[in-house]
Amino acid sequence: MKRIIILGSTGSIGKSALEVVEKYPERFKVVALAACKNHELLFEQIKKFKPEIAALSDPAAADILAAKAGIPVLSGEEGLKTIASYAGASFVISAIVGFAGLAPTLAAIRSGKDIGLANKEALVTAGSVVMEEAGKYGVKILPVDSEHSAVFQCIDGRPGIDEKAKHNPPFEGEIILTASGGPFLGKSRKELESMTPNEAVSHPNWKMGKKISVDSATLMNKGLEVIEAHHLFQVPPERIKVLVHPQSLVHSMVEFQDGSLIAQLSVPDMKAPIAYALSYPERLKGVIPRLDLTRAGNLSFMSPDTETFPCLLYAYDAIREGGTAPAVLNAANEIAVEAFLSGAIGFNDIPVIIKNTMQSHSSKNKSKNKKLSDERDAVEADSNARRSAARLVEEIKAGKRR
Ligand code: MG
Repeated sequence: MKRIIILGSTGSIGKSALEVVEKYPERFKVVALAACKNHELLFEQIKKFKPEIAALSDPAAADILAAKAGIPVLSGEEGLKTIASYAGASFVISAIVGFAGLAPTLAAIRSGKDIGLANKEALVTAGSVVMEEAGKYGVKILPVDSEHSAVFQCIDGRPGIDEKAKHNPPFEGEIILTASGGPFLGKSRKELESMTPNEAVSHPNWKMGKKISVDSATLMNKGLEVIEAHHLFQVPPERIKVLVHPQSLVHSMVEFQDGSLIAQLSVPDMKAPIAYALSYPERLKGVIPRLDLTRAGNLSFMSPDTETFPCLLYAYDAIREGGTAPAVLNAANEIAVEAFLSGAIGFNDIPVIIKNTMQSHSSKNKSKNKKLSDERDAVEADSNARRSAARLVEEIKAGKRR
């Protein structure tokens, strides 16, 4: 019986993870749940899955839950970190959205638990620290992101994730991450100007939370995933490619140095990568419906349109610049997406805010930008970048009103 903790249990990945747990009760037991502020749903989950302890980062929501939960309910970032390192479990699904997931993910690693990582921002903003700590504490970081799970399945047995693979040759080939292209695939810059938050969150193939749906529409999600892959598989950015594949059946591929390609396919359902992370190296029976290739239609692949969707290029820039640049990229993106979702800025303002924030950070921090000494560097860069990005949002809003 694997005893697990789910961070972000009320979000899209958290709910799918609980479906997997519910389907295989003989294999998995949830011992702790944590979320941001959705106390109603967390209360329902507590009644159903009977964890020993829970947390909500929002203190007011935590108070409401504590009054009725019947188990200890913690609050704040400290509460999340305590849950992440709770002694009664050996595996943590890290599925909090955004930079807020970094501190609890590191707490889980430092308590020696293997991680099913859905929170890509932990690797984006402090990837070198996360991977170093994972090595130091001997924990596995198993990808829950569908593309990285696909790559992992294609190069299984190579160093990076599995300690036992340390003596195998490293992966020398190329990683090819696939991207659905999101809801705005094929649209022109002009057409994008008038796109609304509702249109941006209507993803054609995947059911996801709002933040990641907007990231998918801007291609920033793929940019963050390039950075994630760079750290997870220790592959330089020039060997990570992106192909748009609108059918979302090939979840990613690897190309070996001899020219062979291996791809991983399945119906698009996040329960597959979640279950594989939970059960690795075993495979569970019947996790998702089988893919009927005779009904799948044609599979197509094309290069991303980075002129219309430049966010992908900014992610490569951030890797090349190194240090805190990816944390700045991520912070600016979080602020810009939030502003877009609230109606404060337009869709095309998102890349403008990211680019300008990165440029001002880069000119200010030339000497500081080399290597993160620990996660505090990322935290500092994150808060500075948030302030600059928020100022840009205000300027754009003011410009619009004029
Ligand atoms: Mg993904």
